[in-house]
Amino acid sequence: LKKFIDGIPKENDMEIKIEKIQLHPPNNNENDSILVKNLYLSCDPYMRGRMRDFHGSYIPPFVPGQALEGYGVALVVNSDNPDFKPGDFVAGITGWEDYSLIRRTEQLRKITPDDDIPLSFHFGLLGMPGLTAYAGFFEVCSPKKDEYVLVSAASGAVGQLVGQLAKLHGCYVVGSAGSSKKVDLLKNKLGFDEAFNYKDEPDFDAALKRYFPQGIDIYFDNVGGDMLDAALGNMKVFGRIAACGMVSLHSLSDPQNMRNLYNIVIKRIKMQGFVQSDYLDLFPRFLEDVTSYYKQGKIVYIEDVKEGLESGPSALAGLFSGKNVGKQVIRLTHQ
Ligand code: NDP
Repeated sequence: LKKFIDGIPKENDMEIKIEKIQLHPPNNNENDSILVKNLYLSCDPYMRGRMRDFHGSYIPPFVPGQALEGYGVALVVNSDNPDFKPGDFVAGITGWEDYSLIRRTEQLRKITPDDDIPLSFHFGLLGMPGLTAYAGFFEVCSPKKDEYVLVSAASGAVGQLVGQLAKLHGCYVVGSAGSSKKVDLLKNKLGFDEAFNYKDEPDFDAALKRYFPQGIDIYFDNVGGDMLDAALGNMKVFGRIAACGMVSLHSLSDPQNMRNLYNIVIKRIKMQGFVQSDYLDLFPRFLEDVTSYYKQGKIVYIEDVKEGLESGPSALAGLFSGKNVGKQVIRLTHQ
């Protein structure tokens, strides 16, 4: 990251630097550091928040001039830490760099390669976005069979799993997404009952009335803004809204014209914000359930894999214009 930014990230807010790596962790009496070779890196919308000089969030800002950090999968090449040995595969927080010297190893977990599970799934389907979908849908939305569910950013890392979990739970699911290709994926690959391209809908309220003539029981909100406002106006009495993210807001100071907020009162809607890390106790159950759904072919997971660290800045910026089709992954190509 060159310097703190306002609004959405652009490719040239970041730069690639070449620096020497230390093949051996320095012997500085911090007997717990490990050196890893990064294999896959995750692009996630929350990273935008860390590019601002704002300290009031649940996670501190990045340090300008230094490599970004984020979720990744890596191979341990050297270790001062008895819990990790060369050859171990790990998933968790690492640097946006070819090799990283990691001291905060508590943010890593060892993973066992499995021929049936792509390594990058450990920060997608089986990682942070997966837990977000699982905890947000089951814990925050309290779903019941036959309920009507709307998911926004529905083809993304979180949304695609929310919709499939809702289908497995016996709900009727409609997804909104930003291109006809994504709408086609939702309907024909991910099993959504209906899907629409919100960019083709001049009036979100009219679109939701068309897709939910009986009203919405559950809105899993990934975007905030106008779609949230339209959903509020179309919720059923005692509906639930999981406030997961607000990727449509370009900055937190964007004016929000929430004409329909009063529906929360008159329809006794429960709207709850949540952060997946509040639900880490669910992680073992989530991992077991979702791994088994995947291996049984009950769910699929779409990834958008870009090659090389140099593709990172444009891939990260692309999340905010919907360039990614599915979970955005960077695969590092080591020379
Ligand atoms: P995605 O993989 O869905 O990528 C972001 C997507 O957002 C884009 O592909 C695009 O899809 C959509 N988007 C971008 N700009 C806009 C816009 N102006 N209006 C509407 N949609 C837009 O990301 P994730 O699945 O990883 O994240 C989805 C949401 O969940 C984000 O808001 C994120 O911050 C939040 N989140 C929250 C967590 C929590 O613990 N609460 C944890 C993880 C994620 P399209 O083409 O359909 O517009």
